[in-house]
Amino acid sequence: MPKRHPDKPRYQREPEAPAQPEVPRNRIAADLSRQAPNNSYSPPTFYEDMPFTCVDCGAEELWTAEQQKWWYEEAKGPVQSTAVRCRACRQARRETHQGTPRRPHVERRKEDA
Ligand SMILES: [Zn+2]
Repeated sequence: MPKRHPDKPRYQREPEAPAQPEVPRNRIAADLSRQAPNNSYSPPTFYEDMPFTCVDCGAEELWTAEQQKWWYEEAKGPVQSTAVRCRACRQARRETHQGTPRRPHVERRKEDA
Protein backbone atom coordinates (compact mmCIF):
# COMPACT_ATOMS: atom_id res chain seq x y z
CA MET A 1 0.00 0.00 0.00
CA PRO A 2 1.35 3.44 -0.87
CA LYS A 3 1.92 5.74 2.05
CA ARG A 4 -0.66 8.41 2.53
CA HIS A 5 0.26 11.98 3.13
CA PRO A 6 -2.31 13.38 5.56
CA ASP A 7 -0.35 16.60 5.86
CA LYS A 8 -0.82 17.30 2.18
CA PRO A 9 -4.19 18.73 1.20
CA ARG A 10 -6.19 16.58 -1.15
CA TYR A 11 -6.35 19.20 -3.88
CA GLN A 12 -2.58 19.30 -4.15
CA ARG A 13 -2.35 15.65 -5.02
CA GLU A 14 -2.55 14.15 -8.45
CA PRO A 15 -6.28 13.76 -9.13
CA GLU A 16 -6.01 10.44 -10.93
CA ALA A 17 -2.74 9.09 -9.65
CA PRO A 18 -2.77 5.32 -10.06
CA ALA A 19 -1.59 3.15 -7.22
CA GLN A 20 2.15 3.08 -7.79
CA PRO A 21 4.25 0.20 -6.57
CA GLU A 22 6.65 1.22 -3.84
CA VAL A 23 9.59 0.25 -5.99
CA PRO A 24 9.34 2.01 -9.33
CA ARG A 25 9.53 -0.59 -12.04
CA ASN A 26 11.55 -0.35 -15.13
CA ARG A 27 9.37 0.15 -18.17
CA ILE A 28 10.37 0.26 -21.80
CA ALA A 29 8.30 0.75 -24.91
CA ALA A 30 7.54 -2.19 -27.13
CA ASP A 31 8.25 -2.30 -30.82
CA LEU A 32 5.04 -3.89 -32.02
CA SER A 33 6.38 -4.47 -35.51
CA ARG A 34 9.03 -6.78 -34.11
CA GLN A 35 6.73 -8.98 -32.07
CA ALA A 36 5.71 -12.38 -33.30
CA PRO A 37 2.60 -12.25 -35.48
CA ASN A 38 -0.59 -12.32 -33.49
CA ASN A 39 -4.13 -11.60 -34.46
CA SER A 40 -6.89 -11.58 -31.91
CA TYR A 41 -4.65 -10.98 -28.93
CA SER A 42 -3.94 -7.36 -28.05
CA PRO A 43 -0.16 -7.13 -27.83
CA PRO A 44 1.66 -5.37 -24.99
CA THR A 45 2.64 -1.82 -25.93
CA PHE A 46 5.32 -1.68 -23.26
CA TYR A 47 7.31 -4.05 -21.12
CA GLU A 48 7.47 -3.69 -17.39
CA ASP A 49 9.49 -5.59 -14.81
CA MET A 50 7.26 -8.43 -13.73
CA PRO A 51 7.75 -10.53 -10.62
CA PHE A 52 6.72 -14.16 -10.93
CA THR A 53 7.02 -17.43 -9.06
CA CYS A 54 9.01 -20.24 -10.62
CA VAL A 55 6.79 -23.21 -11.42
CA ASP A 56 9.60 -25.66 -10.71
CA CYS A 57 11.17 -24.52 -7.46
CA GLY A 58 8.80 -21.77 -6.30
CA ALA A 59 11.50 -19.10 -6.22
CA GLU A 60 10.54 -15.47 -6.60
CA GLU A 61 12.13 -14.05 -9.70
CA LEU A 62 11.85 -10.82 -11.65
CA TRP A 63 11.24 -10.93 -15.38
CA THR A 64 12.74 -7.64 -16.40
CA ALA A 65 11.49 -5.34 -19.13
CA GLU A 66 14.69 -5.93 -21.07
CA GLN A 67 14.24 -9.69 -20.90
CA GLN A 68 10.68 -9.36 -22.10
CA LYS A 69 11.72 -7.20 -25.01
CA TRP A 70 14.31 -9.78 -25.99
CA TRP A 71 11.84 -12.63 -25.64
CA TYR A 72 9.07 -11.03 -27.68
CA GLU A 73 11.12 -9.16 -30.24
CA GLU A 74 14.34 -11.17 -30.69
CA ALA A 75 13.25 -14.69 -29.80
CA LYS A 76 9.80 -14.01 -31.28
CA GLY A 77 8.07 -15.56 -28.32
CA PRO A 78 4.28 -15.60 -28.48
CA VAL A 79 2.83 -12.44 -26.97
CA GLN A 80 0.63 -14.36 -24.56
CA SER A 81 3.56 -16.30 -23.13
CA THR A 82 5.28 -15.17 -19.95
CA ALA A 83 8.20 -16.33 -17.86
CA VAL A 84 7.43 -19.33 -15.67
CA ARG A 85 10.85 -20.54 -14.56
CA CYS A 86 13.65 -18.85 -12.69
CA ARG A 87 17.10 -18.52 -14.19
CA ALA A 88 18.49 -21.54 -12.34
CA CYS A 89 15.68 -23.83 -13.46
CA ARG A 90 15.89 -22.65 -17.05
CA GLN A 91 19.59 -23.39 -17.02
CA ALA A 92 19.02 -26.80 -15.49
CA ARG A 93 16.52 -27.65 -18.19
CA ARG A 94 18.86 -26.42 -20.88
CA GLU A 95 21.66 -28.63 -19.63
CA THR A 96 19.34 -31.60 -19.45
CA HIS A 97 18.48 -31.07 -23.08
CA GLN A 98 22.08 -30.30 -23.97
CA GLY A 99 21.19 -27.09 -25.70
CA THR A 100 18.75 -28.54 -28.15
CA PRO A 101 15.07 -28.85 -27.42
CA ARG A 102 13.96 -32.42 -27.45
CA ARG A 103 11.71 -32.99 -30.35
CA PRO A 104 9.19 -35.76 -29.96
CA HIS A 105 9.05 -38.19 -32.79
CA VAL A 106 5.78 -37.54 -34.42
CA GLU A 107 4.56 -40.27 -36.61
CA ARG A 108 2.45 -38.74 -39.23
CA ARG A 109 0.20 -41.21 -40.82
CA LYS A 110 -1.20 -40.45 -44.15
CA GLU A 111 -4.89 -40.43 -43.82
CA ASP A 112 -5.63 -40.59 -47.46
CA ALA A 113 -8.78 -42.52 -48.00
ZN1 LIG B 1 13.17 -22.28 -10.26
